[in-house]
Parts: sequence; structure tokens; C-alpha cells
Amino acid sequence: MDLLAVSKTQPAERVRALAALGQRAFGENYVQEAVVKIAACADLDLTWHFIGPLQSNKCADVARHFDWMQSLDRARLVAPLARYRPPQAPPLNVLIQVNIDAEASKSGCSPGDIDGLAELVRAQPTLRLRGLMAIPQPHPDEAKRRSAFSRMRRLFERLREGCPGVDTLSMGMSDDLEQAIAEGATLVRVGSALFGPRPPAGRRAG
Ligand SMILES: *Cc1c(COP(=O)(O)O)cnc(C)c1O
Repeated sequence: MDLLAVSKTQPAERVRALAALGQRAFGENYVQEAVVKIAACADLDLTWHFIGPLQSNKCADVARHFDWMQSLDRARLVAPLARYRPPQAPPLNVLIQVNIDAEASKSGCSPGDIDGLAELVRAQPTLRLRGLMAIPQPHPDEAKRRSAFSRMRRLFERLREGCPGVDTLSMGMSDDLEQAIAEGATLVRVGSALFGPRPPAGRRAG
């Protein structure tokens, strides 16, 4: 089980402080903010995950500056991510984001779209399909939350059967990471439980 430290809205100094304690993987939601922070931490050997909604005109920045893209949710993003990945860099690790509770306001593809997206990613030598990501509805009923995590686990296991190299199920945040781990998460994304509460921000698309 791996820990992704979600450092959105946190200054580079706080990333450096956590890195000094041994944390290597950091997650960011907003491309512009992240690119500056990644440059400010370039002397540390960190791994950066893009976890926010992605506009297609920002694919080049994600492909150039990140190690992982966790929020792939539509076919249109695949070709630009692949094309702008620098040839000397290792392939960009990709997770397909699933809208597991079918919420109108949320990013993510529907479960039925996973196989098609997986095939598109696997056809690109500069991308490497690693698994699935989800942000289940923060339901007050614990059984409902667990059900979303367990549906994700079944989708993950099915994908893994057909795709060697798929090894990552990214789910669970500060408020629900115990349930996510109990249902088989391999990567939890934790922000406020590590850094403290974030200043309230408006919805921004990365
Ligand atoms: C902000 C964010 C997190 C971290 O949320 P916390 O509740 O602060 O742990 C995890 N995943 C995604 C996609 C996020 O946007």
C-alpha cells in the first residue's frame, strides 16, 4: 500500500518538509500551480501524480512534467498525452478514472468505458496503463461507501486479468482511507490528514 501526499494549494516548502521525512510521491490538481512547484522541487527525486480534471489544452504540460496521470476519463486525452510525452522520458503511468457512483457533477468514465480506454492507452508506447482511480461519493452511510470501493476492486481485478502491468488501484482520501484499504486500495491519496485543512477554493479545472 502506497501513500500519495496530495499537496494542492500547499507551498513548495511544505512539500520539501514532507520529502525530508521520506515521502516521495505527491499529487496535484491544478496544472499551472503544479508546474511551478515541480520546478521548485526539481533537486529532490520526487514522483508527481496529476489527479485533477484535465482540459485537453493542458495535456502537453501533464505529459512533460508529471510521472503519473490518474484522471484519464475520455478518449480525446489519449493522443495528446502520448504525443507530448518527451521521447527520452519513461512512459507516463496512466490510471483510468471511473465515476463509480455515476454522479452528474463528477469526472470519470462509466465502468462500461474502461476496456475501450484501456485499449487506447495500451496502443501508445509513451503511455503505460497501471490501473484505475476513483473518488466515490462521500456518503455518510459507511456501508454505501464500502460498496463503491468494493465495486472498484472488482473492476480493477477484471482489468488486471487481461492487462499485464496493471497493478494500481487508487482510492481513499483523508476521510475514508480505512475503508478503501480494507477493500483493496493499493494507493491512497491523502491531503488534509497530512497537511491540515486547505483554504476553501473555488472549483478550478486543471
Ligand atoms: C484533494 C484530493 C484528495 C485529497 O483529499 P483530502 O480529503 O484532503 O485527503 C485526493 N484525491 C483527489 C482527486 C483530490 O482532488
